[in-house]
Amino acid sequence: MDRVVIIRYGEIFLKGKNKSYFESLLVNNIKSALKGYKHEFSRSQGRYVVSGYDIDCEYEIIDILKKVFGIYSLSVADRVETDHLNGFPQIKESLKALALQVFGQNTIANPTFRMTVKRADKRIPMRSCEIAALLADVVLTNTNFKVDLTNYDYDFLVDIRENGYAYIYNEVIHGAGGLPVGCSSKGLLLLSGGIDSPVAAYMMAKRGMKQVAVHFASPPYTSERATAKVVELRDIVNPYTTDMPLYVVPFTEIQLEIHEKCPAEYMITIMRRFMMRVATLIAEREGCLAIVTGESLGQVASQTVESMTSTESCAGLPIFRPLIAFDKEETMAIAKKIGTYETSIQPFEDCCTIFLPKNPSIHPNLKKVAEAEKKLDIDELVARAVADAYKV
Ligand code: ATP
Ligand code: MG
Repeated sequence: MDRVVIIRYGEIFLKGKNKSYFESLLVNNIKSALKGYKHEFSRSQGRYVVSGYDIDCEYEIIDILKKVFGIYSLSVADRVETDHLNGFPQIKESLKALALQVFGQNTIANPTFRMTVKRADKRIPMRSCEIAALLADVVLTNTNFKVDLTNYDYDFLVDIRENGYAYIYNEVIHGAGGLPVGCSSKGLLLLSGGIDSPVAAYMMAKRGMKQVAVHFASPPYTSERATAKVVELRDIVNPYTTDMPLYVVPFTEIQLEIHEKCPAEYMITIMRRFMMRVATLIAEREGCLAIVTGESLGQVASQTVESMTSTESCAGLPIFRPLIAFDKEETMAIAKKIGTYETSIQPFEDCCTIFLPKNPSIHPNLKKVAEAEKKLDIDELVARAVADAYKV
């Protein structure tokens, strides 16, 4: 008997011509997610099976697989030989152990169960319902559970596959859903240390976008610890985004120049326009086809329609804003789910919060902003920032 993890993937994206492309991306992502663990990987009729792993690592493996986009559900199962000619002895043995375990943990009064048998192996002359009746007997003998096919508390599942093996389990764990990362080209993520941008990374990865992250730091106004926090956030979302590189761009010189030469009310707008220019150049270098931000409409002064229009005109690529219509609470709920929240709320300075004017312009006039910027050597400043960017 073997213990295995069954992986089920979404059927929707597997229809049509791109099926094998999507599948190979998903397989690669699963293999790379599990690279630190001894295991075997096999395909079996529309699902994958991970086996041969150290049982102590089972929980960790499940946890990792729950973060791989494209996986819809998982089950931990016993894999045994079907052996129908001898009356399914191994299936019965495994089912008995499972029934006893569920029985031992049961806290429900008058518990009920259902036996679900799928028989793909047509060499077996018995019908699924006949096998189910036979196997239900094992549960009835070893527990106080009663059969109820509609209002059941427990579902015992036995998949009898064509390869001579049967899988026995009673739990279906939700996967992350979405599309395999890599199937929706590459985006350049603007990653701050806040709550929103790590969630934006998660959202775009869910739709299959591979991402490269860029963080603007302003030493000595922002500390090393502030940058370390961003690296930590990247590491937390990495299981979802699959190995996301992170560039740190020194932003101090640009900010000081703007601070010195431009009207204070446009500080934020002009700063964000520079972010877009730098991001566009790094995106080109990395082969990214879009810029991703954690902006949400109306959240702060720089996130009005006018402000976004003003920054957008400096981006050479489309800007994707997956949180644009989210309330903060909705974003926070996702941040908590994916585990970034606690790190995001650590109070470290951000480059956007230093040099913050008292009265930022909420509806910046594009012409006036462009006029104000003329005092700066834009190309030179941007080129230097890109040249000084380093990967962590
Ligand atoms: P977040 O919680 O993601 O920091 P926010 O609500 O604080 O967002 P802003 O600070 O206005 O809003 O930032 C809006 C978006 O701009 C961020 O979501 C992020 O994509 C990008 N951004 C802001 N600051 C930085 C930075 N220092 N480095 C990289 N990107 C940044
Ligand atoms: Mg922020």
